[in-house]
Amino acid sequence: MSAIALYARLTPGFAERLAQTLAMLESAASTHAGAIVQATSLGAEDMVLTDLIARHALPVLIATLETGQLHRETTDLITTITRHYGLAVEVYRPQAEAVLQFVATQGEAPMFRSLALRKACCNLRKMEPLARMLSGHQAWITGLRREQSQARGGVPFQEIDDAGRVKLNPLADWTWADVWHYIDRHKVPYNPLHDQFMPSIGCAPCTRPIAVGEDFRAGRWWWEDSSKECGLHVKTETDSMIGASA
Ligand code: SF4
Repeated sequence: MSAIALYARLTPGFAERLAQTLAMLESAASTHAGAIVQATSLGAEDMVLTDLIARHALPVLIATLETGQLHRETTDLITTITRHYGLAVEVYRPQAEAVLQFVATQGEAPMFRSLALRKACCNLRKMEPLARMLSGHQAWITGLRREQSQARGGVPFQEIDDAGRVKLNPLADWTWADVWHYIDRHKVPYNPLHDQFMPSIGCAPCTRPIAVGEDFRAGRWWWEDSSKECGLHVKTETDSMIGASA
């Protein structure tokens, strides 16, 4: 059964949430003209945001991280966005030399051996390229939602990140039903892995389908008893969640 059939529902307040999200995007695009980027994880939430940006011709750059460990279905979405919307997607990859060295010393799948090695891999493949992506921008847009996990329960619509940039989370109060209702209504392209019980999709080695009743992010780093975060949305001074859905 498709994710649309499973999750898409029109629920009370959807029109208001959508209008608020669009107003937020329009205001941010105008305030930070030329210096605002959507850091898309290519997940369902981020595809909704990309659709809104494209549909309303907002001057927001679209960029993504290609960690070198993504599913083919995920990387295919990069060309799908360009084909479907006529939008270029800036792709940020880890430093090739650093990856080669890490793999040579730690092996192909060090993330399963310890939390420290998993975080080292995320730093190398995600955090460093993200820093390059955000460099020179005043603001960035994510697909974080409060409903995604307990750790994300307090996600604000807008915050200031560690580097002093504005971080916008325009879908903070959207439900999973809202996301799929929007995708269904606007025929938004999405990752077919969502149809295989993967609500949250990251790197291939670190993502598995979830079972009925499991948490939304239970399929991410499932072998760990951790906060299910890679660091992209964690503030360093508190080491707690502040904010992709990534
Ligand atoms: S999610 Fe897994 S493969 Fe991807 S960067 Fe983190 S540890 Fe490495």
